[in-house]
Amino acid sequence: MSYKRQTVDIEQIRRQEEICLQIFDRVTADGKHPLAMVDTYGCQQNEADSEKLRGYLQKMGFGFTQDEFQADVVVVNTCAVREHAEMRVLGNVGALNHTKKNNPNQIIAVCGCMVQQEHMAEKIKKSYPVVDLVFGPHELWHFPELLQKVMTGKKRVFATEKNDGAVAEGIPLQRDGSIKAWLSIMYGCNNFCTYCVVPYVRGRERSRLPENIVAEARQLVEAGYKDITLLGQNVNSYGKDLENGTDFADLLRMINDIPGDFLIRFMTSHPKDATEKLFRTMAECEKCAHQLHLPVQAGNDRILKVMNRVYNSEKYIQQVELARSYMPDLVLTTDIIVGFPGETDEEFEDTIRLCEKVRYDAMFTFIYSPRVGTPAASMPDPYTREQKQVHFDRLTETANRISAEKHKEYEGKTFRVLVDGETGRDEYNLSSRTNGGRLVHLKGSTELIGKFVNVKITGSNTWALYGEVENG
Ligand code: SAH
Ligand code: SF4
Repeated sequence: MSYKRQTVDIEQIRRQEEICLQIFDRVTADGKHPLAMVDTYGCQQNEADSEKLRGYLQKMGFGFTQDEFQADVVVVNTCAVREHAEMRVLGNVGALNHTKKNNPNQIIAVCGCMVQQEHMAEKIKKSYPVVDLVFGPHELWHFPELLQKVMTGKKRVFATEKNDGAVAEGIPLQRDGSIKAWLSIMYGCNNFCTYCVVPYVRGRERSRLPENIVAEARQLVEAGYKDITLLGQNVNSYGKDLENGTDFADLLRMINDIPGDFLIRFMTSHPKDATEKLFRTMAECEKCAHQLHLPVQAGNDRILKVMNRVYNSEKYIQQVELARSYMPDLVLTTDIIVGFPGETDEEFEDTIRLCEKVRYDAMFTFIYSPRVGTPAASMPDPYTREQKQVHFDRLTETANRISAEKHKEYEGKTFRVLVDGETGRDEYNLSSRTNGGRLVHLKGSTELIGKFVNVKITGSNTWALYGEVENG
């Protein structure tokens, strides 16, 4: 596959910022205080994209609301990974008919992965006239220009051309929190797992330059962020498209060298190219959390092969053992798909066996959802939804039991946690995370929020740990 990494010229981003100022003048005329709502579906990459949309909207003079009736601009940032997410989006976009009736000048934009699929862009064009603007993930960098077109042209704008995608630096960001931050290090995916739509909608793998990533991480640390999650569909292939030889483990080390007390996490790692160098680097870098999200997807070798995952269960287990040999306290999580076309009862049992062997701290489990245009969508799929549901329920029970057992092992021990917010409940009013990312509920002063504290774990269940702050 011949592909050259594309970038968006910084002058183009400056132009977008100028357009933001033109929109500012327009929407704040006569002392108005316009409001925008950004509604996000799907993965952390989408959360990070929404922070860019909000960054632009803020420059245009918009404040933010969660109430679609109050909003002058509504942006729905969509997901295409499973049908369920698409149904929710379509239901909610349909409901915006009411808000637009109330405020006919309201502008409704739908962006993200769902509309990068041709059939979905068509569906919105034909059946959702309430939508004024549609743009795919590759067009996000010129959202201001697209919005201005809608504002001045009074006609609908669609920007969802097929595209490999480019790297755009310098887009303003409005981050969601002040303790934890997302940091995208690369975009797109080249793996083409046969069930997955991501490579079709997010384009080819392209890495940001290490100097830009490190500069952003440094700014985050200086601004007081304590927990930075590096994002990419497969962070282990970071740098393969760059000419400077930096790989993901090198990048981790560069970020670890930034002075300050903070944690580095990352997701997602594809098992096919997780390396010993990565595990060793994680163990050696004191700021790198001992947490690994290593999606296995299935425990049966035939299914893994048809999924095009490029590893088998034996190789996967060897990797887990290697990672644990470097980090005995590693918190390991995974994604699993149940009911891939043609998966038999016996093949499913291999998934259960693998989970019992690996013993994940937590598992994210999904029923297979056919995606238009992917190879798996045209594979014979003789099993019913009900049969798949039986497997799914068994897997969930297994996952929950193992999580509870693993959490039980924390009891009576002390861990350093980062307090990240309030729970809204009286008894355990604070939430926090261990180095490995497990949720701990605490009782204590809100002044602890944003701080690392030592906590003795006193109780646990499948979902969370409960603890007491230790003094001194
Ligand atoms: N790049 C990440 C995953 C992105 S999608 C990785 O490879 O790990 C997140 C998860 O959604 C996947 O790990 C997979 O378990 C699930 N998923 C993807 N496509 C799916 C589909 N068609 N049906 C059900 N689950 C799916
Ligand atoms: Fe999808 Fe596979 Fe790429 Fe993950 S690695 S985004 S599952 S194609």
